[in-house]
Amino acid sequence: METQKSSLAVGQYLQSHRDEIARMLLDLVAIPSVTGDEGAVQDAIAVLMRDRDLEVDVWEARPDEIAPYLTHVGDQDVWEGRPNVVGRLAGSGGGRSLMIQGHVDVVDPGDPALWTRQQWGEIADGRVYGRGAADMKSGIVAYLAALDALRATGTELQGDLLLAASVGEENGGLGALSTILRGHRADAVIVTEPTGLALVLAQGGSLVFRVTVTGRAVHGANRNAGVSAVDKYIPIHQALLAWEAERNRTLSHPLYDHLGNKFPISVGVVRAGTWASTVPETLVAEGRLGFLPGETIEGMQRQTEEVIARVAEDDPWLRDHPPLVEWVGGQFASAEVSPEAPIARTVAAAHRQVTGEKPSVVGITAGTDARLFTEIGKMPTVVYGAGEIMTAHGPDEYAPIDQLLTATQTIAMTIANWCGTRPET
Ligand SMILES: [Zn+2]
Repeated sequence: METQKSSLAVGQYLQSHRDEIARMLLDLVAIPSVTGDEGAVQDAIAVLMRDRDLEVDVWEARPDEIAPYLTHVGDQDVWEGRPNVVGRLAGSGGGRSLMIQGHVDVVDPGDPALWTRQQWGEIADGRVYGRGAADMKSGIVAYLAALDALRATGTELQGDLLLAASVGEENGGLGALSTILRGHRADAVIVTEPTGLALVLAQGGSLVFRVTVTGRAVHGANRNAGVSAVDKYIPIHQALLAWEAERNRTLSHPLYDHLGNKFPISVGVVRAGTWASTVPETLVAEGRLGFLPGETIEGMQRQTEEVIARVAEDDPWLRDHPPLVEWVGGQFASAEVSPEAPIARTVAAAHRQVTGEKPSVVGITAGTDARLFTEIGKMPTVVYGAGEIMTAHGPDEYAPIDQLLTATQTIAMTIANWCGTRPET
């Protein structure tokens, strides 16, 4: 029962440092770091790592190294002033290595009038509020506080521990990819995104598409002589939604079957026409299509093109003027780790040790950096952290402090159990 004893000691340390841990999160939230502008917060995180005597690597991703992977992470408007940070704690030898990773960029907080709390940080009601409080500066604080707790309770690790803070997750994962290309590796990875303490083993893929439909412009007063690109697009839209419904009915995955929509297809932009009284000659629709672990980018692109081609075959105009389907922006693969994977079992066991309950084990429809570590880095990766994802990207985003401490304790015990600890002498 040695680990039970150390779990209790870690829990006591965290409870007695509750205010400091919340304050560390508040301080990071107070440094705005909207994607593309992560320099200042990374400087602060590098200081936090150096204060903890980690061997710290700071570097910026370069366009030439990313170029072969552009479809995986999307292109960047800004490359400079966006350092990635990895802090390494060398183990005493003989244990497994572990990387714990979080992204430091946040999405724009939007209209302050929609927030009832401070956008860049406020503590109230046992919660830390602010943009990035949940997604996911909470995850950065969790791994730093976990390390503090292990040290304070006299734990010495055998395997290496790498703590990674990455830029550019919200628009595709630039920093995580660069961390992999930089050669930072471990026997497993935990991404501490806000999962509300669920253990996430799978994430859906997503493809961004653009459909261009051609019509024929005439004066609206004479519309029957023209062809409306809007009218021609409507059956395409309906076919995409019918396909989404059919896929939901016919495809099954144990980590996704609880969801109302396992593969959302969402058209986010529709632009058509140039003038109210002119029949529109062009319509451009752009959307995002989700898919399951096990399905491939190429297979999903082909199936989408087939759905749209079938609509065109049934329409004399579209037969002669086939809609153009393009794959623009990020094309993100799905990823999955087996529940039997050693890292999945270790996190689940630590969660159980800390909370007395099994974690809920799920898949998510969104993408995270985990897919890059799994698919490109070939490192088994799970996602686990504090904070309700439902408040991420919205007003009054928050992380509950109790949940942050629970996640931190689970992470501390995962580190100890995974990396191994030096036997007491
Ligand atoms: Zn996130």
